[in-house]
Amino acid sequence: PDLPRTRSVASRLVVVERAGSTNRELIEQASASPAEWPHLSVLLTDEQTAGRGRLGRQWSAPPGSSLAISVLLRPDELPGSLPVGAFGWLPLLAGVAMKRAITAAGAAGVELKWPNDVLISGKKVCGILAELLPDASAVVVGSGLNLTIGADELPAPTATSLRLAGVAEPDADAIVAAYLDELRVLMYELANSGGDADGSGIRSLIERECATVGREVRIELPDGTIQVAKATGLDEGGRLMVITDAGPAAVAAGDVTHLRY
Ligand code: ATP
Repeated sequence: PDLPRTRSVASRLVVVERAGSTNRELIEQASASPAEWPHLSVLLTDEQTAGRGRLGRQWSAPPGSSLAISVLLRPDELPGSLPVGAFGWLPLLAGVAMKRAITAAGAAGVELKWPNDVLISGKKVCGILAELLPDASAVVVGSGLNLTIGADELPAPTATSLRLAGVAEPDADAIVAAYLDELRVLMYELANSGGDADGSGIRSLIERECATVGREVRIELPDGTIQVAKATGLDEGGRLMVITDAGPAAVAAGDVTHLRY
């Protein structure tokens, strides 16, 4: 696809006909030749053949009806900095940015689910995966966005697409450009405050935007146990603060196998 608006927001836009995993390919290329991949570089395709979710899970979509969008974030190129302890915010910033972009495209009832999903009517329209470059110099934030997938082609019963949610002809260029622009500003604000989620206002913003906060959740842990808890907020690193029978706790995205309402 030709994406002139996206091209004007991205510092570099590479659109490929097909990719295995756009995250993996961007990580490889940005590691091999960092100077060619500045902050806010984008690798994008509408046919991703080996997409991944969290914890090695598969992300799949029929060719031509969804986008895989990987964005390179280099906090070192911004004023301020981003300590590794603040990286947990990045998928949430991307989630807010995507929520706003698809809402502007006409989708109603869009919700951000901690730590990395964007839902419409409780179903996943976009999944987000943030990964660190091996040398920890940058982060790649990938999102799989279901644009026009039909009801009979959905990759999971928990999935939906913008078309199924009532946006008949989603404008991919407008959505990706809006997403990038939102993400650029949010990232700037967080880095500008040195990763201080309170000083930057990011914590209160995400707590407002994230529908998980305030809800009863069922958290499945890697050992298979399920904790029922009330989500009360986010801590300074973007972890979910919960109250369980055992008392208050903070859970990191990496420690949660599944989170259900
Ligand atoms: P969960 O949804 O179980 O809480 P998660 O949100 O962390 O976990 P990921 O691991 O990031 O999910 O994504 C992988 C899961 O997303 C797969 O197990 C599958 O159920 C679902 N999935 C795969 N492809 C798509 C898609 N195109 N659209 C929506 N959901 C998908």
